[in-house]
Amino acid sequence: MHSKVVKTVCPFCGVGCGMYLTSDWKGKVCGVTPQWDHPISRGKLCDKGWSTAYAVSSESRITHPLRRERDKFVHISWEEALSSISRALQDIIDDDGPQAVGIISSARATNEDNYAAQKFARSVLKTNNVDHCARICHSPTVAGLKQVLGSGAMTNSTDDVSKADVIMVIGADPTENHSVLGGQVIQAKLAGAKLIVVDPRVTRLAKLADIHLQLQPGTNTALLNSMLQVIISNGWHDQDFIAQRCEGFEKLEKHVEKVTPESVEAITGLDAEQIRQAAKLYSQTEHSMILYGMGITQFVSGTTNVMALADLALVCGHIGKPGTGINPLRGQNNVQGACDMGCLPNVYPGYQLADEKETQAKFSAAWGGDVATSAGLTSMGMTKAALAGQFKGLILFGEDPVVTDPDQNHVREAYQALDLLVVAELTMTETAKLADIVLPAASFAEKSGTFTNCERRVQCIHPVIPPLGEAMGDWQWLQALAKAMGSDRLNWPDTESVFDEMARLTPQYQGMNYPKLEQGFGLQWPCNESAPQGTAILHQQQFPIGKARLTPAHYVPIDEPTDEDYPLLLTTNRLHFHYGCGSMSRKSPLLERETPPGILFINPLDAKALSLHPYHPVGVRSRRGYIETRAMITKDVPPGVVSMPYHFKEAPSNQLTNTALDPITKMPELKACAVSVTALPID
Ligand code: SF4
Repeated sequence: MHSKVVKTVCPFCGVGCGMYLTSDWKGKVCGVTPQWDHPISRGKLCDKGWSTAYAVSSESRITHPLRRERDKFVHISWEEALSSISRALQDIIDDDGPQAVGIISSARATNEDNYAAQKFARSVLKTNNVDHCARICHSPTVAGLKQVLGSGAMTNSTDDVSKADVIMVIGADPTENHSVLGGQVIQAKLAGAKLIVVDPRVTRLAKLADIHLQLQPGTNTALLNSMLQVIISNGWHDQDFIAQRCEGFEKLEKHVEKVTPESVEAITGLDAEQIRQAAKLYSQTEHSMILYGMGITQFVSGTTNVMALADLALVCGHIGKPGTGINPLRGQNNVQGACDMGCLPNVYPGYQLADEKETQAKFSAAWGGDVATSAGLTSMGMTKAALAGQFKGLILFGEDPVVTDPDQNHVREAYQALDLLVVAELTMTETAKLADIVLPAASFAEKSGTFTNCERRVQCIHPVIPPLGEAMGDWQWLQALAKAMGSDRLNWPDTESVFDEMARLTPQYQGMNYPKLEQGFGLQWPCNESAPQGTAILHQQQFPIGKARLTPAHYVPIDEPTDEDYPLLLTTNRLHFHYGCGSMSRKSPLLERETPPGILFINPLDAKALSLHPYHPVGVRSRRGYIETRAMITKDVPPGVVSMPYHFKEAPSNQLTNTALDPITKMPELKACAVSVTALPID
């Protein structure tokens, strides 16, 4: 075997940095080099990007199909695996109907894999039970922005960070989670941009901010409505933009009329004058840009928060031009793509509504036969239905819901109750340990395809090594499984054919093909006849729905406030050196040494009241579970609030988190729940 170098894209976060991967003569990924000319990363990678080789070349990779036999797994052939899965799925469908089976796809897999997953669900299994981890990160973005703007994606490009005069970062910690983009925010600040940070925690950017609004967790809508009140009552809104491009202004004006900064002081914990200053700075600057993350979406008010943010940008006319916009920072490398591909129960590729007869007819004609018509379940809906004995067969790839979903005990119990759990993975995750059959997945370094980053840029990836052992790409084993079930609906000779079929049926991707994507650094959707070179900034002339719909957003308090028994509010966060459930980043000894596995951030005042010393062992209890970890005493969290990352299976914060849901998108309230903390004896 010869050493090889390929041009590809980082497999970690949604920024989509460009890299070259190198393999050695033994067929092992051995090196990573940044692409100096890449339009986003411009020669940079963060610590995670540099550690890519560890993530895919781990000694612990699953290389053969496995079947559970009592409490151990035994090697089986692909043929045996596929025929067992197909028989079990067919038995469940025969007995309980297609609503009893479903698929959870992966925001880490390619667009082609995700397209195949939803096609398999809808046209082979005949169910709309298809979902992925966007449910627990940005499903409110898809719903909220679609309602107000007609399109649920980042409106601008990462390049616009350098063009903004004011950057408002709300509920996001990009220097930790989207580090290359976080660095661009710091560069913009150093070059003179003003920075507003809205976050209960003192993040790295909050320390640099001109204004840090350190609000109480879950009070975003109250704050945003009060900013709107200040802006409108002072006449700082963009009247021409509103008149020409928006509807519903009078209703919104009336809705926020009485929401003065003083009226929300007690709710948000913020000083009214500081809210006024932020409202003035954001509205009275030519180019103001909003970047937001899961501190907006992971609440029972997730969709409401997104709509309030969109209202704010629209009222100030900060949309549709460079250096502005409302920009969700998508977490995983291809979470935008997995949404675009229709791995959501309510939409087909390109957000075509699953319950509309025209959509069903279009895909039924294209795919050669009938498709699912009943409403689908979300991932959390599948968990709930499994506990009720109504959902029995789940296929899941590239996700670890036992670590990442709220109320871990509840998820584990549901998965153990299934008649069939199939997990395709790189390594043995906590979820894979519960599976009946485990399939060896190919990593991004072993396959071709495309990822869509947070700025809607579709970029090609290329294999630098062949699949390890008997590992297979996801669309390939899904196609093989469809054939084992007697269906020829998935019938592609190669990955490019999957993309071409998808592009024909997905309006936003219609003008794309592999040769065009390979010419430069991919293309940003929409890319079609009227925008053959893609679109860097959305909504420049008009919104997909004509006029934007300003939508009054009602403040909804968090589901589980603190009380005597659970006196501290737990919020979750992510760390620079880790990623998601840790199944990739924790394979790197370099990343692993940087942060102890599991940590509770606690303010010195609360630590003192509990007689805690730095790194003191602590027990953390909520109404749903109990975990033990160590305390990191820091003023980065305010008194009364504690914070934990969710990357660590040793101290899984999701044993504690709340399953209360945003009523529109079923997003669980991962960002706030009541806990008690106790000091444990020091060993
Ligand atoms: Fe990879 Fe994101 Fe880091 Fe870029 S910022 S190198 S995409 S993890």
